[in-house]
Amino acid sequence: MSKSETVTCDLTVIGAGMAGMAATLFAVNRGVKTIQAGRSGESVFASGLLDLLGIHPISASKWWDNPWAGIDALVHDMPDHPYARIQKEEIKDAFTELLSFLKNSGHSYSRYTDRNVEILTALGTLKTTYCVPDTMWGAVKALAEKRDCLIVSFNGLKGFSARMIAGVLHDRWPDLRAVRIAFPGTDRLSEVYPEFMANALVTAENRQKLAEALKPHIKDAQVVGMPAILGLYRCQKVIADLEALLGVSIFEIPTMPPAITGLRLKEAFDQGLRNKRENYFPQQQVLKARQKSNGDFEIIIGNSIMEQTVVSKGVILATGRFIGGGLQADRKRIRETIFDLPVCQPEKRTQWHRENLLDKQGHPINMAGLETDEEFRPIDRDGMPVYDLLFAAGSILAHQDWKRMKCGSGLAIATAYAAVRAFVHRCRR
Ligand SMILES: Cc1cc2nc3c(=O)[nH]c(=O)nc-3n(C[C@H](O)[C@H](O)[C@H](O)COP(=O)(O)OP(=O)(O)OC[C@H]3O[C@@H](n4cnc5c(N)ncnc54)[C@H](O)[C@@H]3O)c2cc1C
Repeated sequence: MSKSETVTCDLTVIGAGMAGMAATLFAVNRGVKTIQAGRSGESVFASGLLDLLGIHPISASKWWDNPWAGIDALVHDMPDHPYARIQKEEIKDAFTELLSFLKNSGHSYSRYTDRNVEILTALGTLKTTYCVPDTMWGAVKALAEKRDCLIVSFNGLKGFSARMIAGVLHDRWPDLRAVRIAFPGTDRLSEVYPEFMANALVTAENRQKLAEALKPHIKDAQVVGMPAILGLYRCQKVIADLEALLGVSIFEIPTMPPAITGLRLKEAFDQGLRNKRENYFPQQQVLKARQKSNGDFEIIIGNSIMEQTVVSKGVILATGRFIGGGLQADRKRIRETIFDLPVCQPEKRTQWHRENLLDKQGHPINMAGLETDEEFRPIDRDGMPVYDLLFAAGSILAHQDWKRMKCGSGLAIATAYAAVRAFVHRCRR
């Protein structure tokens, strides 16, 4: 096995999901010499929507129009939830900084600052979220105003049926029509994929062909909804061109995973952070890490062919849960996979799940994770930080169920912000 030279930095961020990307962004913006290592994994499948808080309490399925009011209630009822360790103003600052970065990287979002919005899904259901990519924002307005709208699906594109969307929403949105057409150049294909379609629309010729195929179906429609396949990099340009050719507004609807929307987010981070990190080890596994006698961390990154050693003062652990790989469950207990940190979890395995799979309260295993102090440093059984400069962010944290509470990206962004702030504060003492 070959070993490369040791590289050093102030901070190593482990993980390349939303929490890892956000932590790296906040760190480099504050002049911290940062190395990031991690697989982006399943985050490339994400919808691209940024939830802040949708539901609380889970058991009552109470939806919040105003996520900030929801956070007030949540912090009151669940003082251990990670949001309880961050001031609301800081969460707002974190979102402002992240959205401004994404805009400068060519991936703009829209939101109402203090209200959630509803957005169409590929199933025809409505999803409540906080920030919406600009390419989907038209759906929020069209739905609110019940505009005359045509939804388009494509032969061979799995998991997206315009007819189903229009059917499910018919009572709520009667002026919704559906059409299914062939995507240019795919007449003989039984299956087409979002990535292929997005790449095809790079050329003006294919955009022209798509507009020609759509034109006869527009009729009285004021707005057209299409699956999120309208380009990978310059989607605003693709949409503007199609709008000009068709004379109607166009919005996108997130598709089922794997989705172009997650890839766009990943590309925006990669593009915007290029040359800002000391080093980046994308799609690399952190194999092990330990604290050296001088207090620095030594982190081994690599695979069976090559290993790289990183030495840094601090670490932000943003390795996610079971799917991401930050947590692992064996027959007896749940483990944290890199430092073997204590994991807050039910006492016995039999308590991980409730009897009813669809129990409205969710399952205790989903609340398992790392407990931290006020500065997002994982703590031991006595409530003391395990390491002075080890922080954790994102879904690996305990006392939250982001899927059910609809707070996935918000939790990742806010806790990444707070962890970086704490690291910087400690280093400057
Ligand atoms: C299909 C899907 C749809 C989603 N939809 C939404 C949505 O609509 N709205 C919303 O707000 N959020 C959504 N999310 C959630 C959001 O994208 C984040 O997944 C979530 O916020 C948690 O982020 P995270 O960074 O903490 O963890 P993860 O996203 O799990 O990222 C952790 C990363 O760390 C890496 N890692 C773990 N261990 C190691 C190791 N030893 N070495 C190197 N790398 C390692 C993993 O590979 C992974 O990529 C969705 C997620 C998925 C998967």
